[in-house]
Amino acid sequence: MIQSTLILLKPDAVERGLMGEVVHRIERAGLKIIGMKMVWIDKEFAAKHYSAHIKKEFYKSLEEYITSGPVLAAVIEGVSAVAVIRKMSGDTEPKKSAPGTIRGDFAVHSYEYADKNGISIKNLIHSSGTPEEAKAEIKLWFEDRELHSYKIVHEKHTR
Ligand code: AMP
Repeated sequence: MIQSTLILLKPDAVERGLMGEVVHRIERAGLKIIGMKMVWIDKEFAAKHYSAHIKKEFYKSLEEYITSGPVLAAVIEGVSAVAVIRKMSGDTEPKKSAPGTIRGDFAVHSYEYADKNGISIKNLIHSSGTPEEAKAEIKLWFEDRELHSYKIVHEKHTR
């Protein structure tokens, strides 16, 4: 099943110079980047993207985190792209994410640490949770003309 999914490399990933590392991992896996841009979102846009979390206790800190600098937004296409990107991202809580995942290799926060300090969990990457969520998120972040149809060499070997 060929799917598309949205990733955001959050401000901590951008500021720590991890964009290339993450993009490299995605390309190496045989997934295709069909759209990519750097965006510095405001509170209004953050509320649209994180509408499911607005009423949660940690929302203020999440808003502060995601609007603190530019993010790299990208749309990734490939076989089971939603699940594969989630697997590569690792558990939401970096303390629990497995080594080999993006969060497991490059982040350390725990819920306990974030909550005690009134900050958001800094976990480098957002990735859509389901194909339905991916559709809605891609529509929110990208216009059709920003998404490209082309072939990568991996398609010969992974499809
Ligand atoms: P999710 O949509 O599940 O990725 O959640 C949104 C983001 O909010 C997560 O990726 C974390 O950065 C942050 N977050 C989620 N739960 C908490 C929490 N209990 N305390 C602080 N930050 C959180």
